[in-house]
Amino acid sequence: MAKKKAKKKSGRGWKVTLLLFFLLVLGSAALLLNLDGRHVQFRLTEGREISVPYGVDYVDPGRVAITTGKIFGPGVLTLPIETSGYVNTKVIGTYELTYSTRFLGDTYTARRIVHVTDLTPPSITLQTVDGYEPDWFTGYEEEGYLAWDDCDGDMTALVEREVLEDRIEYRVSDSSGNEAVAERMLPAVAPPTLELLGEENITMDASMEFEDPGFVAKDGAGKDLKDYVAVEGSVTPYRAGTYEIVYSITNGEDTISVTRTVEVLPVEIPESVQPGEKTIYLTFDDGPGPYTGELLDVLAAYNVKATFFVTCEYPEYEDFVGRAFREGHSIGVHTASHNYYLIYSSEENYMDDFNKVEEMIYRQTGEYTHLFRFPGGSSNTVSYFNAGIMSRLVEMMHDLGYQYYDWHVDSNDAGGTRTSGGIVANVTAGCAERQVSIVLQHDVKDYSVRAVEQIIIWGLQNGYTFRALDMSSPTAHHRLHN
Ligand code: ZN
Repeated sequence: MAKKKAKKKSGRGWKVTLLLFFLLVLGSAALLLNLDGRHVQFRLTEGREISVPYGVDYVDPGRVAITTGKIFGPGVLTLPIETSGYVNTKVIGTYELTYSTRFLGDTYTARRIVHVTDLTPPSITLQTVDGYEPDWFTGYEEEGYLAWDDCDGDMTALVEREVLEDRIEYRVSDSSGNEAVAERMLPAVAPPTLELLGEENITMDASMEFEDPGFVAKDGAGKDLKDYVAVEGSVTPYRAGTYEIVYSITNGEDTISVTRTVEVLPVEIPESVQPGEKTIYLTFDDGPGPYTGELLDVLAAYNVKATFFVTCEYPEYEDFVGRAFREGHSIGVHTASHNYYLIYSSEENYMDDFNKVEEMIYRQTGEYTHLFRFPGGSSNTVSYFNAGIMSRLVEMMHDLGYQYYDWHVDSNDAGGTRTSGGIVANVTAGCAERQVSIVLQHDVKDYSVRAVEQIIIWGLQNGYTFRALDMSSPTAHHRLHN
């Protein structure tokens, strides 16, 4: 029984053993597999989060799924992968792709985050205009530019333009912060030429007029820039001195300038010479007038020469100026208007009035005169309303080469003396005290004109010579009060 049992036992025994063996093998394999921990691993080229450029079709950078374990390591098989999700590179944003595969009944997945970004800066196109050349004065004028971004479209309006010394920089950034820079080199522009006409340094005698010879200003292309030239400084041609005129042209940054100097020299006046003999200079102001013809007759009768400081107040007697000149008398300027408030209001007004008389004298004599007498005399106080005017006029007239004459002896015919006898008395008394006398009378006063013959007779009897004033005569300058 025991044997049988044993037999039986051994008959079934190998089956059991075999079974146990299988179980053992299976168990071991399962154990091994379990220990190996075999699973799926995804390998994503460039990683799990990537950025791709806007507008370029998406191409997956690559991925594989392989099995791997702790004991046997990565397997050689790659598993088929299914991809879900999409990337739209026409729209900026973040996309998610899911890769999946199956292994040993399990599903494995991996995700990849894809950012679609604009990585391309805008493009800037600089335009040029055929034949355009910038000019120095107006500077470079923009020929135009365009800016385009694949993502943002036309960006021209957003371009920032910076003008530098030698170039212009254009910058624009798209909405993703990609900056584009372009630069345009500015061509060197020839500066304009600014040249003086006439002499750079002018020397002239004092006169009433100075005409600036001018200048020429042109740009590199020969365009006239005259209107853009600023002229500073001026010449007072009737005052001796050195003047500067600066001509300049600027474009805001650079300035080109040239300077002219004008030296105004005083006109030389001969020195006064005191006559060596007893001399009387009869002078008559404010004419010619209705009594001037009569006066000239008397002077002619005694061959006595006198001086007339004339006005334009009585034009109907103007011809007496010509006659007096031809008969050897001296002609000087007095005033056209005899209006103190006009002539002493400014140097210009004085000269305007003065020149009217000069022109009349020129008409009558064919010459301009250099002799004159200030209305009221140089010592007048009626000009106080314009402080210093007499001092300025004296200097100005001196520079211009005019000589003025006041008087030593006032006949007082414009004052309180209204009779010929009184005039004779005043003049002879005054002259008697002096070796040389300049006498003030007015040939518009009949009683004064009618005193002349007696004055002449007295003078001749007392050894005086009557003379007309000239540039080297004594001047009898009074002390200035203004
Ligand atoms: Zn007068």
